Amino acid sequence: MKIKSADIVISAVKPDQYPSEVLPEFALAGRSNVGKSSFINKVLNRKSLARTSSKPGKTQTLNFFLINEAFYFVDVPGYGYARVSKTERAAWGKMIETYLTTREQLKAVILIIDLRHPPTADDVMMYQFLKHYDIPVIIINTKADKIPKSKWQKHLKITRETLELDPNDTIVLFSSETGYGKDQAWAVMKSYMKD
Ligand code: GDP
Repeated sequence: MKIKSADIVISAVKPDQYPSEVLPEFALAGRSNVGKSSFINKVLNRKSLARTSSKPGKTQTLNFFLINEAFYFVDVPGYGYARVSKTERAAWGKMIETYLTTREQLKAVILIIDLRHPPTADDVMMYQFLKHYDIPVIIINTKADKIPKSKWQKHLKITRETLELDPNDTIVLFSSETGYGKDQAWAVMKSYMKD
């Protein structure tokens, strides 16, 4: 994918703040510090469009990035950050739930999971939530460079089993460090852009 333009256009917390134009949207979700911003920056060839987080869980808005004037990435605030109050967590949940369950042009959720560890309880919850609402999911198993290649398959299997992955869902092995998996990630996203 050739990226001609990528700009953050809107930070939204409620539906009347979402972009009004109808273009395909991909939401990006994952626990705090998993490498979500790095994924966004890597696939868009930008150094720091999405802010890599020194303070995880800080951004509590949905950030809409317009790509090539043709589609949106919607950066969803990271979950599972312990130092967030219950009230904040509930507000976060409501904001995300509203967006994910009502947005018609949402094509798929890109769920970022750390290849080094089994998916967390929060990852499993997010995956089940998406399956429950029939929202297509693309799993990005990131930080692959931190694991020897000989162990990739073993870790992929753990991801699949822990999530009880639907055989129709794709897992893309990825590294923001090396760019591994970038072409496959775009190929999978493109396949969702059409329908
Ligand atoms: P976010 O909170 O999910 O947006 O996570 P960040 O993108 O800020 O990444 C968290 C930390 O993990 C940063 O120190 C990144 O440099 C590092 N990181 C992210 N992706 C990768 C990767 O694929 N490989 C390696 N080695 N480090 C990564």
